[in-house]
Amino acid sequence: MIGVDADLEDRAIAAYLGLALGDALGATVEFLTPREIAHQFSREGGVHRHIIGGGWLRLGAGEVTDDTTMALALGEAILAEGGQVRPPAVARAFDAWMRAKPVDIGNTVRRGILHFRRTGRPWVRPSADAGNGAAMRCLPVALTGARWSERRLARAALAQAWVTHRHPLADAATVCLVLMAKDALAGLGQEALATRAEALVRRHPEFRWEGARLDNPSGYIVDTVKAVFAGVLAPGDFTERLVAIVNRGGDADTTGAIAGMLLGALAGTRGLPEPCLDRLRAEIRVRCVAQARALAAADNAPRGETAGVPGSVGRGLLAQEAGSLVPG
Ligand code: MN
Ligand code: MN
Repeated sequence: MIGVDADLEDRAIAAYLGLALGDALGATVEFLTPREIAHQFSREGGVHRHIIGGGWLRLGAGEVTDDTTMALALGEAILAEGGQVRPPAVARAFDAWMRAKPVDIGNTVRRGILHFRRTGRPWVRPSADAGNGAAMRCLPVALTGARWSERRLARAALAQAWVTHRHPLADAATVCLVLMAKDALAGLGQEALATRAEALVRRHPEFRWEGARLDNPSGYIVDTVKAVFAGVLAPGDFTERLVAIVNRGGDADTTGAIAGMLLGALAGTRGLPEPCLDRLRAEIRVRCVAQARALAAADNAPRGETAGVPGSVGRGLLAQEAGSLVPG
């Protein structure tokens, strides 16, 4: 067992709390346009900046949505497998998560879980569906694999993604975000994340965020990631950047969750806004902190993280795809 590095543990906790904060903050304005947000919050200078719940899901203040609860389900499945990302365990965890009637669920996620129920196969086939659902929940992979090679981390990122999403753009973005989280958890700064984002744009110019229209990002992975890149790579502290991102509206809980994960990992717990943290539901806060600690300390001895895939359909493909998505 590798000893837990205090800085890694602190950044892991901040990343998880950042994810939950971004989800809780963004959910209030999910599916609103920036103009509608400015109108609704005109008494606060036109900016939504407090954790107050509400939104189309009518959340209580400090409640989170599928972005956080799917990440928690994924993380529990990883911990139950000794820190490994095993697709059957992940699929079973998502199935149980759906049975527990989450407050919201994306269409592609639902289809993937129903595919598992019907066929027993943990991975979906490649599809034209490039939603952001696999990317939004990727943090536990970066935490358990904080010391893994990039290739191994990329394989693990896809091993969980393919339970519901399997599209070249969604795959590339999910791997990129996991590697960005890895860099931030290791204490590298914003420039390292910009380098990762630029590498993704070179491979898939769709993700070019500079000069792009970023308002009202949809659940399409390209829209989501462009808004996240623009926000995370902008100047400002944790709160300023997170507030700016969710005020773009659209799939704001998800842009908020992904950006919150990266901004939290960059900032560490001292960079998180205490008044906001106090608004998060205690039960969620406790689960995020406990899971971040456990994943950062998981026994990460090399073992086949894709072992047990029925029929081995796609196992070679996964390694091939993952290998093509990391430099070197
Ligand atoms: Mn959500
Ligand atoms: Mn969302």
